[in-house]
Amino acid sequence: MDDEKSSIFSYMHDIMLWQRRSVMFDEIHEECGVFGAYRVDNAASITYYGLHSLQHRGQEASGIAVSDGENITLQKGKGLTVDVFQKEKLDSMVGRLAVGHVRYSTAGGQENENIQPIVSKGHNGSLAIVHNGQIVNEKELRIELENEGAIFQGTSDSEIILHLIQKQKGTLKERVMKTANRIEGAFSFLVMNEDTIYAVRDRHGLRPLSYAKSKDGYVISSETCAFEVMGIYESVDLKPGEIVEFHKGIVKHEFYSTDTDHHMCAMEYIYFARPDSVVEGINVHAFRKATGSILAREDKDLKADIVIGVPDSSLSAAIGYAEEAGIPFETGLVKNRYVGRTFIQPTQAMRDRSVRLKLSPVSSVVKGKSIVMIDDSIVRGTTSRRIVQLLKDAGATQVHVRIASPVITSPCFYGVDTSTKDQLIGARMSVEELREYICADSLRFMTEEEMKEATHGVGLCLACFNGEYCTKLFSYQEELDK
Ligand code: SF4
Repeated sequence: MDDEKSSIFSYMHDIMLWQRRSVMFDEIHEECGVFGAYRVDNAASITYYGLHSLQHRGQEASGIAVSDGENITLQKGKGLTVDVFQKEKLDSMVGRLAVGHVRYSTAGGQENENIQPIVSKGHNGSLAIVHNGQIVNEKELRIELENEGAIFQGTSDSEIILHLIQKQKGTLKERVMKTANRIEGAFSFLVMNEDTIYAVRDRHGLRPLSYAKSKDGYVISSETCAFEVMGIYESVDLKPGEIVEFHKGIVKHEFYSTDTDHHMCAMEYIYFARPDSVVEGINVHAFRKATGSILAREDKDLKADIVIGVPDSSLSAAIGYAEEAGIPFETGLVKNRYVGRTFIQPTQAMRDRSVRLKLSPVSSVVKGKSIVMIDDSIVRGTTSRRIVQLLKDAGATQVHVRIASPVITSPCFYGVDTSTKDQLIGARMSVEELREYICADSLRFMTEEEMKEATHGVGLCLACFNGEYCTKLFSYQEELDK
């Protein structure tokens, strides 16, 4: 290995990890959503609507690549999909094949070069790629590719997939399959050339990916909620280790690996996915209601006046809890939807203020009441502590906190910012210490077994709760061991 190149890369990698750590505060962030349209009229516009439905998976950048059968046109930029694409821009993107992406940009940094789709032009045509997830052997592969002469435009792991596809031999399908076998970690990605789209899901099934028949072709999406806006209610999930080819109007399924298992990210159900999405056959709202109901089942002796949820992702669980417990569900907290994300505020004082800007207690609802407050998770504990304080300031007599997931004790290396281990309060404190820290009158989390009950046997990744990662972590093992 070229020592100088290796040390430069290690330095860049450390900076990327530092950037990752430095932007993490008390929210969990997904890192992307992908959408594709195959043989669909106005593919760019359809992809625009698809990305709009996936906006909750990433708000920092958006992009679409469209093929007219001969050429691939690319438009992308920082911001929400509606900010990046106006009608004139979409009208100029002519073609019936498209892939699009919404991005949350901690892994790989915020440079324009990392915004997807990433497009390359080679001697055998153009390729566009969009990727959701995180490759855990990215450092090793990048060094290998750079030593072979590859020049990277940016620092995202998605570009590694593109370089690997280019360096393989064979048909495009063979090259994509060989690439999928070289990368490890979480990936659902789409690769498009002038006339074909390949959809690929990692062999552990960590990230969701589905496709559906539309009236004139096919659409592919990270989440099924993007199909429903097009009036499509039937879809097919890709299986772990599967590649689906959309070519000459025909859909072909194949497995690039038979060494598969099933570890769908539990956080997709708990927090990320939209309640109207169906993940592995389970409606996300129904899953969250079930978690609330299971929490209530264990709370037979708890007397409370009302049940509230922290908006938006905890509302379904709060409804489930209220129904099971026979306690009225109330709107005790209101979310201001037009406030930016907490993590861009640099100082503690500004972060304190931003929680108040984002969430307001409804004092006429909570005053004088004993409350069960349902939240989806606790990361650093600071937000939970502030919300309990807001409710008590507004006159709540008791706040019993119930968390619709187990205690987060380990970081995620599969494309989700759950913070580093030293920032995870659940890794440092017992549940009783945590209860004291957030000033709750009582606190309870779900168990892993209860989580599994709510998903009716779907194989789950629970690594951020139990530290059992379904892959080798490669260079990220050092980060874990620090
Ligand atoms: S570690 Fe946690 S957040 Fe990451 S994929 Fe697994 S369940 Fe999801």
